[in-house]
Amino acid sequence: MMSKHDVGIHNAEKKTIMNQALTFEQGPIRPPSEAGSLLIRVTRNCPWNRCAFCGTYRGQKFSRRSIEEIKADVDAAKNVADRIKELSWQIGDGGDLTQRVLTQVVHDAGLPDAFRSVALWLASGGDTVFLQDANSLMLSTESLLQVLNHIRKTFPRVERITSYARARTLKGKSVEDYTALKAAGLTRLHVGMESGSDRVLKMINKGSTAQDLIDGGRKVVQAGVSLCLYIMPGIGGVELSREHALESARVVSAINPDYVRFRSLYVRRRSDLVDMVQEGRFEPPSEDEMVREIRTIVENISGVTTTLVSDHILNLLEEVEGKLPEDKERMLAVIDDYLSLSDDDRLLFQLGRRGGAIRGMDDFRLPGVRARLEAARLQIESETPGGLQEYIHAIKTRFV
Ligand code: SF4
Repeated sequence: MMSKHDVGIHNAEKKTIMNQALTFEQGPIRPPSEAGSLLIRVTRNCPWNRCAFCGTYRGQKFSRRSIEEIKADVDAAKNVADRIKELSWQIGDGGDLTQRVLTQVVHDAGLPDAFRSVALWLASGGDTVFLQDANSLMLSTESLLQVLNHIRKTFPRVERITSYARARTLKGKSVEDYTALKAAGLTRLHVGMESGSDRVLKMINKGSTAQDLIDGGRKVVQAGVSLCLYIMPGIGGVELSREHALESARVVSAINPDYVRFRSLYVRRRSDLVDMVQEGRFEPPSEDEMVREIRTIVENISGVTTTLVSDHILNLLEEVEGKLPEDKERMLAVIDDYLSLSDDDRLLFQLGRRGGAIRGMDDFRLPGVRARLEAARLQIESETPGGLQEYIHAIKTRFV
């Protein structure tokens, strides 16, 4: 009888295979842009774990993993990739990751999760790796170099290795450190900037300042490592909305990161921000106020060649994407087009976007779309005690 690790394995090989590690650790999150990456966990959880809006690692203790553990995980991923290849040979698909092999691996509930992860990674090209969890730069540069070298040696096809990093930690390494990391294969760092306003950063207990971001970000950019900053529209609340937008634009202008990604605020249940809202210490801005913040940010970023990205469903206007400075006017026009709608139509747009019926302003203006959304609105208002706003909010809870 075959064990759950024995898929496609001949009996003669069993002894060897049983001695190979076929599982490896994976943390809970990665950026959406790393959906196709192999996840290699180099630390566990978050060393800060105090941001008011974040509950991802709540109650979890931070730890560094040893180099031996991390290397063993990389080796396990390689073992799994080899097993998948052997399976492909055995069923006559020549060692290729065909749809048949992918389907067999992904749908075999008896296999460790690692098979699914590696198969999907290989199907995405097998050339990108993301180092988990929240702040891989907590490892010494020497340790990170060892990890990067081992990944590149084990998987020579890997072209991109990226990671999350905190602003405070970012500034603790030198340009020389980042230059060495880049040479070893580190291609991009994802940093949760949230805001460029020190008052906002303090309010949300981010544990870093705008100057930390600028100092650390500039070193990364100078070394030629790609930098992606995440701004959270809405995190200044109603009170600090404009300052949040203006200061965020100032910090981006001072750093010139390759990417800025918007992640509009959603007040999560397992976060301190919920308490702040309930105690009246924080008033979340409306959807329209967050759109206006994004407008202020886009308008006021200057002197950079950054690409702005809205690749998260929490952002109302996903069409606000493009490279600065050439796409600035087009992005502002998208925002102005939305803001020029009547109050009723903006709500219908939100309903359509959140409900998945439309993706942008062009969809909203297609013949018959507005009438269908109006009919849906009437039905929702007759059936939902809290009305349309409540209904739209409830849909958003499914996104997080
Ligand atoms: S640094 Fe990141 S992971 Fe850690 S608490 Fe803040 S937002 Fe969450």
